[in-house]
Amino acid sequence: QPDIKNLKDEMEKQLPGSTYALLTDISRTAERTGSRVYLIGGIVRDLFLERPNDDIDIVVEGQGIDFAGHLQADYGGTVKMHETFGTATWIHPSGLYIDVTSARLEYYDRPASLPDVELSTLSEDLYRRDFTINSMALCLNPEVFGDLVDPFNGQADLRSKTIKVLHNLSFIDDPTRILRAVRFETRFDFLMDKQTESLALNSMARMKDLSAHRIVEEMKRLFKDENPPGTIKRLFKLRFWQQFGVDDGNAEQSYIHAGQLKTFYEIHKPPAGRKARWFNYFAIPFFTSRKMHLMHQFSLTKRNHKFLQDLRSLSDIQGVEQVRQPGAFHRFLKHYDDEAIIFMIAKENMENEDVITTYLKRRVDMPVFLTGEDLIQEGMKPGPHFRGILLDLEVSVLNGEINSTDEALDWLHEHHIQQD
Ligand code: ATP
Repeated sequence: QPDIKNLKDEMEKQLPGSTYALLTDISRTAERTGSRVYLIGGIVRDLFLERPNDDIDIVVEGQGIDFAGHLQADYGGTVKMHETFGTATWIHPSGLYIDVTSARLEYYDRPASLPDVELSTLSEDLYRRDFTINSMALCLNPEVFGDLVDPFNGQADLRSKTIKVLHNLSFIDDPTRILRAVRFETRFDFLMDKQTESLALNSMARMKDLSAHRIVEEMKRLFKDENPPGTIKRLFKLRFWQQFGVDDGNAEQSYIHAGQLKTFYEIHKPPAGRKARWFNYFAIPFFTSRKMHLMHQFSLTKRNHKFLQDLRSLSDIQGVEQVRQPGAFHRFLKHYDDEAIIFMIAKENMENEDVITTYLKRRVDMPVFLTGEDLIQEGMKPGPHFRGILLDLEVSVLNGEINSTDEALDWLHEHHIQQD
């Protein structure tokens, strides 16, 4: 297959019309101001792979901030400057965000301070990126619009489905790149080449030097991506989990659990927030190895803490397998969050999954037909037994046996008031 040298046609064909129009606008401003301007990063890669992406990142040879100002002058919108880094974000009137960077070099030998920034050429900018497939650029100036700049031959690596670093110190400079490599591997069904994989293995111990926050950010991106079970497995192979106290022996079980969890989400489409799902996958290896306490090193949110607590007590609950009515689950599970419940049933691969899902769906917007106040109104003496009565009522509502306040009152009189 001959190398592609210009991608103008692909850009026109694949990008949304508004994105393409924006690029031609940027092209005109480049011409007017005599700046050399490039489209870079994930969007270039994804044009080759024919995957949708309209994240516009541009690099300017010269001052990125000035160029963002020119774009604003020509087409409106607003500019947000990040002066320390010589970058700016142009917020187009349509609401699109366009990141504008100066071609620059970063030095990694001053870890305590912000990176020193120095203007330089495009190739040097590309050289500080992560992988060859992400280090391609497209010229945006009119006479060369769509011309490919590919100094590390990313095009060939895209063709052979290979993730390759640009130099041997890449993972030492930034260990999060190992996690990025895994993300691209599993997403595109690519593989690191031998050299990159052995560098990843050799640098894995550095992962512990990263702040918990950075690891968590990468985990979110990894486990929101397309193949969480594959990701978990790959991270065992690269000895990621092992750095944090999980043993090799847990790989297979973790992979199976993650697969069942993924299937559960796909089949049952439970209401639980998509935003929190990544954490369930992240927790699996720690859960499998019975080392949930190790997760506390990842500065967790309140919601994460509740999840861990729920898992701990859910492990002890007996008898859930026999339940056949949605409401009956409520007696066991009322106080537990959806995510923890789903995590446990996916692990057990239980036969009554459907009933549980119905329970979770119904409890989201369970109507409240009676409160303690209503019971008093009906002449009952307040006390701790109210709690039991209201729970019984909820169970019947979740079973679909009570559907209105009138029915709830009838139920109350039949079951409780006579005996009072
Ligand atoms: P996605 O489709 O997941 O957004 P992306 O490649 O667009 O993937 P971003 O995280 O948005 O990923 O990064 C944009 C570009 O910035 C990448 O293509 C890469 O060139 C560069 N980049 C991002 N993070 C790093 C890093 N840690 N080290 C080096 N280069 C990076």
